Amino acid sequence: MKTAIEGNNIQLAQKNSYDALIKGNAEWVERRLQDDPEYFTELAKGQQPEVLWIGCSDSRVPANEVTGTKPGEVFVHRNIANVCVHSDMNMLSVLDYAVNVLKVKHVIVAGHYGCGGVAAAMSHKQFGLIDNWLRNIKDVYRLHSNELDRITDPTAKVNRLVELNVVEQVYNLCKTTIIQNAWQVRHDLQVHGWVIDLSSGLIKDLKVTNSAAHDLGYVYELNDAPVAAAH
Ligand SMILES: [Zn+2]
Repeated sequence: MKTAIEGNNIQLAQKNSYDALIKGNAEWVERRLQDDPEYFTELAKGQQPEVLWIGCSDSRVPANEVTGTKPGEVFVHRNIANVCVHSDMNMLSVLDYAVNVLKVKHVIVAGHYGCGGVAAAMSHKQFGLIDNWLRNIKDVYRLHSNELDRITDPTAKVNRLVELNVVEQVYNLCKTTIIQNAWQVRHDLQVHGWVIDLSSGLIKDLKVTNSAAHDLGYVYELNDAPVAAAH
């Protein structure tokens, strides 16, 4: 049982962390208006981002800060360990809107070294509901187990799986009809894979950029139109 004093302290700490957000917002608005009195008038007009960022939910890898971009420049989807699953309606909706409505030119899967989701996927512990999500990363491990099993250093092993996970998620995006159909009609759409190194802040480009379906392997190449349903 918590004492009344402990309970009051918890409530106070909770109120402080909440109030800090509102105060931080007010200060941010003030700074933006000092730089440009029309900032929010312009921001409210709409967005034309050229980049879709699919990153990890980890609080240390916010897309705009990491890339030095401003609000309006990066369309963002984040989930635990930046996984792209073909049945994830959330990810597919974001991808479809970004590619077909916003007409982004770059789709970037951005992982990060030391990813807790990837580390959890490598363990044999149960974490609850998230285990079902992390199983996608266990599948990546299985695909690359020959290489990963040979790495003895635990940190190096997690970080190599972080890289391989990004590569596989780039591949998963390229397999979607959304990306493949877009490639049939436009040549200015690229899918990239990055890893952020939190110890330096720097991005590592994994050089797995795809811009055409023929990089994927025969089984994943799709024709230009859906087959009509048989009656
Ligand atoms: Zn992560």
